[in-house]
Amino acid sequence: MSDFCPVIWSEEPTPDHLINCRECGLYKHGSRMIWGEGNPDAPIMIILDNPGAREDREGNTIVCGTRQTLQQAAHKANLKMDDIYVTYILKRKPVRAYDKELVRQTCMMHLDEQIKTKKPALIFCLGNVAVQSFFQNPEAEVKTFRGTWHNVQGYQTAVAYHPLAVRRRPNLWSLFLSDWLFVAERYHKLNH
Ligand code: SF4
Repeated sequence: MSDFCPVIWSEEPTPDHLINCRECGLYKHGSRMIWGEGNPDAPIMIILDNPGAREDREGNTIVCGTRQTLQQAAHKANLKMDDIYVTYILKRKPVRAYDKELVRQTCMMHLDEQIKTKKPALIFCLGNVAVQSFFQNPEAEVKTFRGTWHNVQGYQTAVAYHPLAVRRRPNLWSLFLSDWLFVAERYHKLNH
């Protein structure tokens, strides 16, 4: 792990026609929109529930715990940062209560558009919220869906725990890492 150092991913700008999107009402929470991070043309698309923070309270750029753990696992699985693009079910971070179902369904339309445009080779959903939203299945759970490939909207999709869950419960790290290795193995096979 000594050669691993988390990096600040570059941010993909929000498409012009959505910069002022207010469709779901989350703009009232005051968090800014983040469309995606990493390589916008990457073959592996990671889907998280929401972007979290890229800046601290003073506005300085940071690599938050979620991104650190995610990058650490990717590095361990022998994936390059360039292999990865990260996006979210919600493009803004909610900071108080909101109508979850309505907001997720609304913003998912943008995710669908993103996927159709980017056509990633593999999709990797992290955490129950991302899995339930993307699979359109409120019963879906990481613990039962992990370790196998699923066809979702025609895309090969794997799932794993949310990096924050892994940070809170370090015993999940080995499962998290094995899910990353599972994805990396398929990805490296696609390239040979
Ligand atoms: S979270 Fe999604 S739907 Fe809501 S304002 Fe942002 S882009 Fe629009």
